[in-house]
Amino acid sequence: MHKRDPRYDVLFEPVKIGPVTAKNRFYQVPHCTGLGWLRPRMVAALRGMKAEGGWGVVCTEYCSIHPASDDLPHPYASLWDQGDIRAHSMMTDLVHEHGSLAGAELWVGGARSTNLFSNEVAMDVASLPNSIAIPYQARAMDKSDIRELRRWHRNAALRARDAGFDIVYVYATHHYLLSHFLSAKTNTRTDEYGGSLENRVRLVRELIEETRDAVGDRCAVAVRFSADDEGGKDGDPVINEHRDMLEMLAELPDLWDINIQDYSREMGASRFIKEGSLEAYMSYVKSITSKPVVTVGRFTSPDTMVSQVNRGIVDFIGAARPSIADPFLPKKIEEGRIDEIRECIGCNICYTGDSTGTPIRCTQNPTISEEWRRGWHPEKIAPKGSDSSVLVVGSGPAGLEATRALGHRGYHVMLAEAEHTLGGRVSRESSLPGLGEWARVRNYRVHEIQQMENVDIYFDNQMDAEHVLAVEANHIVIATGASWQADGRGLFNTTPLTELGPAEQVFTPDDIMAGRLPAGPTLIYDDDHYYMSSVIAELLCAQNIPVTLVTPETIVSAWGAKTSEQSRVQRRLMELDVQLITSHGLAGFNGREAQIECTYTGARKNLAVEAIVTVTMRSPNDSLFHELQQAVDSTGGYQPGSITRIGDCLAPSIIAGAVFSGHRYARELDTEVDPDNRMKYDRVFFDDE
Ligand code: ADP
Ligand code: SF4
Repeated sequence: MHKRDPRYDVLFEPVKIGPVTAKNRFYQVPHCTGLGWLRPRMVAALRGMKAEGGWGVVCTEYCSIHPASDDLPHPYASLWDQGDIRAHSMMTDLVHEHGSLAGAELWVGGARSTNLFSNEVAMDVASLPNSIAIPYQARAMDKSDIRELRRWHRNAALRARDAGFDIVYVYATHHYLLSHFLSAKTNTRTDEYGGSLENRVRLVRELIEETRDAVGDRCAVAVRFSADDEGGKDGDPVINEHRDMLEMLAELPDLWDINIQDYSREMGASRFIKEGSLEAYMSYVKSITSKPVVTVGRFTSPDTMVSQVNRGIVDFIGAARPSIADPFLPKKIEEGRIDEIRECIGCNICYTGDSTGTPIRCTQNPTISEEWRRGWHPEKIAPKGSDSSVLVVGSGPAGLEATRALGHRGYHVMLAEAEHTLGGRVSRESSLPGLGEWARVRNYRVHEIQQMENVDIYFDNQMDAEHVLAVEANHIVIATGASWQADGRGLFNTTPLTELGPAEQVFTPDDIMAGRLPAGPTLIYDDDHYYMSSVIAELLCAQNIPVTLVTPETIVSAWGAKTSEQSRVQRRLMELDVQLITSHGLAGFNGREAQIECTYTGARKNLAVEAIVTVTMRSPNDSLFHELQQAVDSTGGYQPGSITRIGDCLAPSIIAGAVFSGHRYARELDTEVDPDNRMKYDRVFFDDE
């Protein structure tokens, strides 16, 4: 085993948190999983895996204390009753097995909770509109409601203790109920819970004291709190009232979990926000409390982590995304294997699980959510089931991941790539504005593959059916990706546009990434709704090309709302003076004018442009696959055991989809896969109920 570099020793010091002690400084802060109370076994196994990977503290996601705080369709955890205690015990048992602490983030949603599941009327500091645009208002809490809330919170803390948690949170940020009490903007009360700073922190203070009173002999009390006030500029916080509040409460809890008002920075996509971006907000926190402090910053570099601790910014390295991308990050640092860390790329696909109410996925870690239902471990994979050789054609994320995982299983793998470099779309896309960190998808896999003696890589090898068959591999995997279409077809135009030309004035993202750029005013037609159109707009703006972006959606990069980056995308484009035209589809282009059509009225208008970039849909590059199938059927000689398409060649998707596809192929080769029920479904709480 490798040895840990002594300069990282500080990260492995135990830290006392009130009555409990964390074995090291690696702290998985509360984060959503899209699993919550709906999928208890999946979430327990996911959290347990983090503990196995060395995280000293592993927390739940936001955990409702009462049905009056219900956020479906966004799955949250809950501690409402005995069933919840049993469900959480599965998690705490797994976390404790590895000597880690388990934390429960008790949550009261206030006006932000939809309560569409429980049908309870939401309560808040005042009667406020539901902030995620549901046309219901919360009712204002009176004194007896506040007393009730305190009782619910206390009882939930007791249930958390009974479920085996070691840390219990008072959650006073992220624009939920307690932050509304703290804020002078939302707290318009005239009683002892409103007005002065002291009055506005009263409820938070009471909850801290009552939680400590209820469970403080056994559990640490943590408070999640925002370092800054509302209304600061991006990266330039206003730190005024929140500093005063923190000073007032400084020694009350056992731990401060600090974040900030702007979620799109805290959870920022790497396109906009880099590692350690909360530092400007955090600088004062440790100077006003003697209690341990944790914050996040998408930390993946152990040197940055050490620097944060040594400079007195934090005591714990908080992580959500880095712990999702690599549950074994602490272990890898501990064992001196830092070049094996699977670094988060900051794409925020993980966040779409919560946004869409579905199990969390990760671009870098295809095993997340699959720990229980498919039995996948992020670091372990079954040895090969035969001495078969495998030829993988194409080294994009699908081909690379299949090669990496097959290589780990011990198969002899031959990876053939047409280009001189590996990585496929990841290599191309990571050179687009802001997407540099995405190259980590390639770099991690290439690094692993390079260590494997059983993997051979053939660069500059454009394979045709004859070449492939000449290799005589036992299994053939086609991972040749997909190409952007130039015919305008997509969601809006379900058939190709008849008037779209001349061809030399029509571009696709593939052209742009290959360096073929338009010269004059350009219309980017976005019927893809994710990042591609907006990064191409940025690239063209940097060449001083006037850009108009047209989309049938009502906002630009609509899917980006699910990754919490839409508002930053739109702002960036507006700042770059990109003309944005929403609710319009492309009807045609004649080389001088584009015709666009309103999605509501069908009204058409013309725009004078010299070029079009169509960002609509992609065609699988599957001709090789079909040729091989035909060739195999018609020859009597060598017969491969299987020919399989994976990744974008099978069905164009996001990069996470390609990685998953490659990983799944590698897992399932030479295994018995039940064609009817390929995974377990986490549908019931307990078999005996
Ligand atoms: P995915 O996302 O499914 O992994 P990509 O488009 O990223 O797909 O990668 C496909 C890779 O396959 C590219 O690097 C491309 O150069 C390579 N490729 C495509 N066709 C062939 C071929 N016939 N022979 C070898 N490599 C190929
Ligand atoms: Fe990081 Fe992307 Fe994985 Fe989220 S999905 S943890 S942002 S790599």
